[in-house]
Amino acid sequence: MAVRWGNDIIVIDAGLMFPESELLGVDIVVPDITYLLANREKVRGIILTHGHEDHIGGLPWVLSELKVPVFGTEFTLALVENKLEEHSLLDDVDLREIRAGARFTLGPFTINPIQVTHSLVDCVALAIHTPLGVIIHTGDFKVDPTPTDNHLFDLHPFAEYGKDSDVLALLQDSTNADRRGYTPSERAVRSKFDEIFVSTKRKLFVSCFSSSIHRIKMVIETARDHKRKVALIGRSISESTDIAMDLGYLDVPEGTLIHAGQIKEYKPDQVCILISGTQGEPMSALSRAAVDNHKHAKIERGDTVVLSSRIIPGNEKGIYRMIDHLFRREANVLYDDGSQPPIHVSGHACQEELKLIINLVRPRYFIPIHGEYRQLRIHADLARSMPGAVGQVLMMESGDVMEFDELGARKIEKVPVGRICIDSGSRGDVVEDLVIKDRRHLSEDGFVLAIIAINKLTGTVESIPEIVMRGFAAGSEEGFVHEARRIIGKTLDESTPEEKADYGVIKEKIRADLKRFIVKTTARRPLIMPVILEI
Ligand SMILES: [Zn+2]
Ligand SMILES: [Zn+2]
Repeated sequence: MAVRWGNDIIVIDAGLMFPESELLGVDIVVPDITYLLANREKVRGIILTHGHEDHIGGLPWVLSELKVPVFGTEFTLALVENKLEEHSLLDDVDLREIRAGARFTLGPFTINPIQVTHSLVDCVALAIHTPLGVIIHTGDFKVDPTPTDNHLFDLHPFAEYGKDSDVLALLQDSTNADRRGYTPSERAVRSKFDEIFVSTKRKLFVSCFSSSIHRIKMVIETARDHKRKVALIGRSISESTDIAMDLGYLDVPEGTLIHAGQIKEYKPDQVCILISGTQGEPMSALSRAAVDNHKHAKIERGDTVVLSSRIIPGNEKGIYRMIDHLFRREANVLYDDGSQPPIHVSGHACQEELKLIINLVRPRYFIPIHGEYRQLRIHADLARSMPGAVGQVLMMESGDVMEFDELGARKIEKVPVGRICIDSGSRGDVVEDLVIKDRRHLSEDGFVLAIIAINKLTGTVESIPEIVMRGFAAGSEEGFVHEARRIIGKTLDESTPEEKADYGVIKEKIRADLKRFIVKTTARRPLIMPVILEI
């Protein structure tokens, strides 16, 4: 999201998205920043609300195109540093630490970060003072009265802004707008874990999101209380635990942590293993342990495996496949099945919390952000049901531009938006939509390769075209090859010398003719690739 006043732009968050399965083989999806690049001299900086991937994951990509300072809290910047280091970008980037309550100014904007609670630590909402009034962007939040780090949600600034009644717009997290009531506190999972620790007689494996510092802290504390040592397995969980310990968010008593290699030195009821891989990612530590392919994480009959996380829609297949393997190992598997007390709680506000913030802030305009369309819509309706607290409710989607002035607010011309698909996480591996289309063709209908040898000097075809097929069945293969050759011959015969000299044109003609023939005779759409060999 970008906020612009005249010749100054500030950007809030720069996340990534994990691809849906139809984007074959693409690792991550980052936003299209054409608008920012077109206005690059106006961009004053990127301000981060917190360190989740959907808020910072796009930074390596964005920063390699756009050199601007990045503002974030201490913990958020520690995660960003790790990420930039991986991409060898750390030395080029200007990182500036911000603190809740410490205002700073960028061009015409004065920004006041406000402490909020979420599933991660050191998260802020942003109150952005503009010449037209204050815009409050909540970032991701829930109103947790008992966060495990005791950094409380700071409700007072929200109330003060509301009292002064100069809040131009409230932009609020919509993730749980379709859920009634309140999101339980992070501490609600503690009683479930006590129950699990008491009843587990053998090794206890716990998997949670590696960024869930609250959860990691709770597991380590509970393990200590139940006289178990803790081993960390998996790169992401070790990294974020290190950062949290460095910055004082995790206070682990000496002698609590052991190395993965030491697990076998302890009795099964003396260890608790924090392991990454809640989403069944095939290469994660837990997935490998589930198929007995991890050096240190041996899951044996009677061990307990706890998935303290949400099943992210789209990942069900991988997760349940992993759980099946865990059952084959005769482990007790506990996952979020809706039972109480919960094994996992959300980091996002439910309806009553959303209403609370709206009531405190009383904005002139309300804009739901951060959610799927249905969640934005439900959130908008929720705000509309509070006419005393909200002036007008506005809906925006990616690419929409809302213009505010003394007269009101209106949508103006859209800016280009879209997704940039990246293979294997490097900016050099941007995948065009075409490539994805090709991969889909390949996976569904295979490919047909037509190799044509052309004499460079005379422009004549030297031999019978070679036809190679994979993953494509054409009834009688011999008949198909014969017919395909005939069609290529005909296409070449009917082409002018100029066409034949332009390989781009001739390849496209051959492809089109072959495609027509293949679709007609087989009703399938393989990837068709003519190759011209110059001899
Ligand atoms: Zn978040
Ligand atoms: Zn988020």
